[in-house]
Amino acid sequence: MAEAAQANDTDLIQGRTGAWEIVLGLEVHAQVVSKAKLFSGAATAFGAEPNTQVSFVDAGFPGMLPVINEYCVEQAVRTGLGLDAEINLHSVFDRKNYFYADLPAGYQISQYLQPIVGKGTITLDLPGGRTRAVGITRLHLEQDAGKSLHDQHPTKTYVDLNRAGVALMEIVSEPDLRSAEEAGAYLKKLRSILRYLGTCDGNMEEGSLRCDVNVSVRKPGAPLGTRCEIKNVNSIRFVGQAIEYEARRQIELLEDGGEIRQETRLFDSGRGETRSMRSKEHAHDYRYFPDPDLLPLELDAAWVARIKASLPELPDAKKARFMKDFDLSTYDAGVLVGEQETADFYETVASGRDPKLAANWVISELFGALNRAGKTIAESPVSAPALGELVGLISDNTISGRIAKDVFQAMVETGKGAAAIVEEKGLRQVTDTGAIEAEIDRIMATHADKVAEYRGGKDKLFGFFVGQVMKATGGKANPAMLNELLKKKLAG
Ligand code: ADP
Ligand code: MG
Repeated sequence: MAEAAQANDTDLIQGRTGAWEIVLGLEVHAQVVSKAKLFSGAATAFGAEPNTQVSFVDAGFPGMLPVINEYCVEQAVRTGLGLDAEINLHSVFDRKNYFYADLPAGYQISQYLQPIVGKGTITLDLPGGRTRAVGITRLHLEQDAGKSLHDQHPTKTYVDLNRAGVALMEIVSEPDLRSAEEAGAYLKKLRSILRYLGTCDGNMEEGSLRCDVNVSVRKPGAPLGTRCEIKNVNSIRFVGQAIEYEARRQIELLEDGGEIRQETRLFDSGRGETRSMRSKEHAHDYRYFPDPDLLPLELDAAWVARIKASLPELPDAKKARFMKDFDLSTYDAGVLVGEQETADFYETVASGRDPKLAANWVISELFGALNRAGKTIAESPVSAPALGELVGLISDNTISGRIAKDVFQAMVETGKGAAAIVEEKGLRQVTDTGAIEAEIDRIMATHADKVAEYRGGKDKLFGFFVGQVMKATGGKANPAMLNELLKKKLAG
């Protein structure tokens, strides 16, 4: 709960009058993955021609009746279960009344006092392997509005109703977050869980995930301050910027003896600042009442239990398993479970192989290559079994880790398998002690002066000899063997 959540000292902001604590609660609108809308059979695909996916219900024609889409309800329940939340077997749809050009019915069907999902939890993954639980207040189902297009005509605004009636889940957090960083961690974790569940694609650019940020400040230990709500911030980076700006604004205002008015604000990403949109006095009176066209939603406990039994392994459980079974660090496990595709890829690479080595290769080399190429893991030029083969060649000493990087580069460029490249280019590691010894003898003979210096106490020269032998063997001498043999020989 709010009062229990303590800010880290490093999260406090220093003002003229001392330290301030930021308090944040997030309201996230997540578009439900469903082919049809919440109360009509119209399609939901992104990017269609305007007004081609609109039924009479969505257009608010008189006399049209909404019919609940069971799949959307199932998706909301699945999400609630994934957030460890109470599922309310009895919930109610209400009309939220307001007038806007892109809301043809003059009201939005939403849930108010009796939402489908109650209290739950999200665990934040923070730097240094720290975690923190953040409370979920509720999740409710509602319809999206249409879209006003202001930039299509010099004097007119057009309305596209394709989005009208699409199912949204509004997920509300407790005021438990204490910094822009925590808000970012919350959104990332929520998005990760939604994607694992397949209930929202989490695409913020396309508006599938939109965030309202409630910000207040207080002196540590003081009661909660008055909050401002920043509407519809559409990237994690902008959420961070909006919070930093808004907290500073509030602190300066309070320190100058002013008062915070509860209001709705907009974030202007171009200027990096928030602006007042409407004050509490001008807040809407939504005149909520139960929608007379819809019966209360009654869920069957056995149906909910079946959905629960079908949930995939979620990021937290997977992370714990990776740490336990594969002995991975919190950080590595956290990175690997962020996306289901990455976790699956890793498990294939690690299958029957050294799991830590596999983790290093996925996180450093593969992610590096994907970043440089601007590709996702699904588009990886090196498949999981192919990377597994490479890791296997390192483990069984066929090639050194150093050579493996060259082999990997060749795999990225040619799409050929690791073993094939090693054979083709003759990169097999030299593990024949006789052959390595012969090279050492030769190098020591050519650099007799350096051998004498080394024996006279100039230890640093060891690296020089390693380098010479490596050069002579084309980098293929087994590093561990080379070190051991060289030490012995130089000792005389
Ligand atoms: P409303 O219905 O007006 O949106 P809610 O009580 O539902 O109000 O709160 C909305 C969001 O504001 C929630 O995420 C909640 O955690 C957050 N919140 C409430 N009080 C504060 C506060 N003092 N500071 C920051 N966030 C707050
Ligand atoms: Mg709200």
